[in-house]
Amino acid sequence: MNIPMVDLKSQYLKIKSEVDSKIANVIENTAFVNGEDVKEFKKELATYLNAKHVITCGNGTDALQIAMMALGLKAGDEVISTDFTFIATVETIALLQLTPVMVDVDPETFTISPEAIEKAITPKTKAIIPVHLFGQCADMDRIMEIAEKHNLYVIEDTAQAIGSDFSSEKGWTKKAGTIGHIGCTSFFPSKNLGCYGDGGAIFTNDDELGEKISSIVNHGMKVRYYHDRIGVNSRLDTVHAAVLRVKLPHLDEYNAARRAAADYYDRAFADCDMLITPQRFKKSTHTFHQYTMILKGVDREGLQAHLKSKGVSSAVYYPVALHNQKAFQGYDYNENDYPVTDELCKTVLSLPMNTELDQDTLKYITDSVLEFVGV
Ligand SMILES: *Cc1c(COP(=O)(O)O)cnc(C)c1O
Repeated sequence: MNIPMVDLKSQYLKIKSEVDSKIANVIENTAFVNGEDVKEFKKELATYLNAKHVITCGNGTDALQIAMMALGLKAGDEVISTDFTFIATVETIALLQLTPVMVDVDPETFTISPEAIEKAITPKTKAIIPVHLFGQCADMDRIMEIAEKHNLYVIEDTAQAIGSDFSSEKGWTKKAGTIGHIGCTSFFPSKNLGCYGDGGAIFTNDDELGEKISSIVNHGMKVRYYHDRIGVNSRLDTVHAAVLRVKLPHLDEYNAARRAAADYYDRAFADCDMLITPQRFKKSTHTFHQYTMILKGVDREGLQAHLKSKGVSSAVYYPVALHNQKAFQGYDYNENDYPVTDELCKTVLSLPMNTELDQDTLKYITDSVLEFVGV
């Protein structure tokens, strides 16, 4: 047995003929940069998300950096984000000489705590970056309320939740990434909508921001060789756009397959008090970028070793809270502000999660887990 966390090969084989011919077509046309597939993909993704502007870029990390550049934030401005995320979210804040202010997360959904955001606001705060972690939206009702009250920008990091729906208590439903001022996503191969290399996108419903972002991704240039602002070079290659155009129509079905696998895990572990299965936030659909449990009184390393001996992969997302990372040691923070992330880093475990998990595989995985836990 060899059960990986992600299985891109089996997924590819199901769409192979279409993908291969689209890629061959790109090579045939030699429009490797900004080809027809890029233009079409932007429109198709905008329609899917119901977003006014979609601008593609080189990866999800660039998307976050470019979003903050477009907001015109100045060195020393504070940007609040979560302590429990992939480093890209907070790294880009620091890279732009802004001050990252990391706050604790909600113990049930693992997404940024609105109460912790409110407490962290100072006169220097300019923006909030909630992360829709593991496939589930943060509480965008509360976050947008806080942002409006304090006149802050909101950039949604939806690298792990493309396709998730947020249903507001006000009655509307919107796609993750289209609620704040700007949304950012990644098409890294293992993400829910992955290409065959690096890729990313930025979305906004604001015309002015859309225009700025389009300019920044392309050296601050609208008319060739006339540069209006300092920008970067960040592009989605045509080959990747071609792959994404094949995969986008399958995204809902891919996310449903992830949800079905998560439901199987939930049922298998329902009677085991030592395995706390992921809570479903009532305002968001969950697209399960990761299936992440909390272990109660289980030796995590022992369980991982046992699973490995059975050929089952597992992973810890994330083993170290960002405030404890060496990279952030120069910043001012209070050790006691992170009780939830500190605990999660010690107790979370993620199981294989992808679009290709069949019932037999899921049974084998869950039996292997329960065998160790002793149920
Ligand atoms: C993957 C990821 C990113 C970065 O995306 P890349 O395309 O790898 O640069 C940013 N934020 C989160 C939460 C991610 O999971």
